[in-house]
Amino acid sequence: MSIKKTAWNFDNSYACLPEKMFSHLSPVPVRSPNVILFNHILAENLGLDFSNLSKTGVAALFSGNVLPVGAAPIAQAYAGHQYGHLTMLGDGRAIVLGEHITPDHQRVDIQLKGSGRTPYSRQGDGRAALSPMLREYVISEAMYALGIPTTRSLAVVATGEDVFRNTSQPGAILTRVASSHIRVGTFEYIATLENVEILKKMVNYTIDRHYLHLKEAENPALELLKAVIEKQIILITHWMRVGFIHGVMNTDNMTISGETIDYGPCAFMDAYDPKTVFSSIDRYGRYAFGNQPEIAQWNLTRFAETLLPLLHESQETAIQTVEDVLGNFPGTYQKHWLAMMRNKLGLFKQENEDEMLINDLLFWMQENKADYTNTFRALISKNFPTGKVFQDERFKLWHRRWQARLSQNACALESSFELMRANNPAVMPRNHKVEEALKAASEQGDLTLLNRLLELLSKPYEDFRSDDMSYQTPLDAGCVYKTFCGT
Ligand code: AMP
Ligand code: MG
Repeated sequence: MSIKKTAWNFDNSYACLPEKMFSHLSPVPVRSPNVILFNHILAENLGLDFSNLSKTGVAALFSGNVLPVGAAPIAQAYAGHQYGHLTMLGDGRAIVLGEHITPDHQRVDIQLKGSGRTPYSRQGDGRAALSPMLREYVISEAMYALGIPTTRSLAVVATGEDVFRNTSQPGAILTRVASSHIRVGTFEYIATLENVEILKKMVNYTIDRHYLHLKEAENPALELLKAVIEKQIILITHWMRVGFIHGVMNTDNMTISGETIDYGPCAFMDAYDPKTVFSSIDRYGRYAFGNQPEIAQWNLTRFAETLLPLLHESQETAIQTVEDVLGNFPGTYQKHWLAMMRNKLGLFKQENEDEMLINDLLFWMQENKADYTNTFRALISKNFPTGKVFQDERFKLWHRRWQARLSQNACALESSFELMRANNPAVMPRNHKVEEALKAASEQGDLTLLNRLLELLSKPYEDFRSDDMSYQTPLDAGCVYKTFCGT
C-alpha cells in the first residue's frame, strides 16, 4: 500500500469574492530559507505529511519560494480603527496561500506572514523579524493549549535576509493557520466602498464559513451580529481568565470567527492589576487588561455600523436595533465573567455573595501585587496556601469566607479542586521566560530554551515539576516589562 504524502487539499473560496476584496499575487522569494520551528502535531491534525520532502523542500514551501499545489495566493483588503482612527490597511506583509480542507472537513486559511510587499504595504518592507515571529508561534500555541480560540502556528522559517527594525535583525516568515482572516476591519473596508451588493455577499460568505446555522435566518445580518458578539464575549472572558493582554485591539485585529489574532505586543499579566499595559505605544492605556471588555464592545459597535444597510430599510430602526443588541453586551459579558470566575474559585451553583467574594479577592490581589496565575493555583489545596503574601490578615479573612462558601457546594471538595485545576493554568508564557528563550534562539541560534518552553506550555494545567519552578516565578515587581511594535 502506498502512503499518501503531503495531501494539500485547497479550495479557495475567498478568491471567488468580488475583486475589490483582495489582490492576486505571489510571495516574494527569499535568499536562503531555513526551518527554525515546525509544528508536526498541527501538520498531522491538518492531514499534512511532509516526510517525503527534504528539509530544504520544507523550507522552500514555508518561505513561499515554492507554492503548494492548488494554492491561489492573495493579499486581502481591509480597513481598521487603529487606536480609534479609521485607516485603510490590508495584508501589507502577508499572503493567504489558500484554504486547505482538513480530513475532518474543516476549512482553514494557510497564510504566510512576512512574505514580502503587497499593494497594501504602504511604507512597510513587507517583511518580519525572526524574534517576533517566534513570539507569535510560542504565544499562539500557548493560547491553543490553554483552550482559548486562536489562530495557530505551523512553521517559522528564517529567510537568510536581514530586516531593519531600529537595528538589523534576521528576517523570518511565519505560517499562520486560521479558520479565516475575516476581520471587523474587512467589513469596515466594505463600508468605505458603499456597495451593498458586496456587503450582502460578504455577510453570506461569512455565514457560510462560520455560522452556517444562520443561513435560513429571517434577518441574517442581525443574527450574524448577535453571533459575533457572543463569540467575542466568550473570547474576552477567556483572556480575562488567564491574564492575557492583547495589546492592540484595533478593529483589524478582531476576527469575525472569534479567534485571537495578531500576536504583536501582547503579554500575560504577572501581578494582578486591571490597569496593566505592556505595549510601549499604548501610552493612554486604551488596551489595558481591564479595558478589554469595553474595547470589544466598541469594536463590535464599529462592526454593527457596517451592517446597518442590511439590518432594516429604515436607518432609524436599524440604529435602534443595533443599540438594543449592543446594549445587552455589558450584562451578557458580566454573566460570562461571573461564571468563569466561579470556575476559577471552584464554586458550584450561584450564590448572591459570589460576586463580592470574587471582587474582594481581586481587590486584595491588586493591593498586595499578588501574582494572578500563582494565587489561583495556590488556592487548590486542602491546606492554607504557603507563601509570604498569604500571611496578610485580610487574605486570611477572605480565605475563611471562601472556605465557608465552598462548604455550600453540594459536592466534595475534590470536585471544586478539579474545576479549579481545569480553569487556572499553572504555567503560562511568563514574559521574561519568553524573552530569554527568544534571545537565545534569534541571537545565538540556540533553540534549547525555546523547545523546553513550548513543551511546558503545551500542558498548562498540569502541576509543575520542581526543576521547572523558575517558569512560575514572576518577573521582579521592580522591573517593568515592555513590549514594542515594529515587528
Ligand atoms: P498589525 O499591527 O500587525 O496588525 O499591522 C497593521 C497593518 O500594518 C497591517 O495592514 C499590516 O499588514 C501592516 N504591516 C505591519 N508590518 C508591516 C511591514 N513590515 N510591511 C508592510 N506592512 C506591514
Ligand atoms: Mg493586524
